[in-house]
Amino acid sequence: MATKQYKQLGCLDVDPKAGCAFQVRAETEAEVLQLGAMHAKACHKMESLPPEMAAKVTAAIKTVTVTV
Ligand SMILES: [Zn+2]
Repeated sequence: MATKQYKQLGCLDVDPKAGCAFQVRAETEAEVLQLGAMHAKACHKMESLPPEMAAKVTAAIKTVTVTV
């Protein structure tokens, strides 16, 4: 069995009060950020991320190891 590292971002990690269970996983941080931004736009009516929110999002990204 092999393991692979993924970047993971969850809405709850950014804003627990939002009560949104959205979670995204991708191979690169840039990809996670892109998917997160798409979700924020679609589900949270955020056209663009304010700098303080972007910093929160970046800080909330975790590296997870997945067995493949
Ligand atoms: Zn969300």
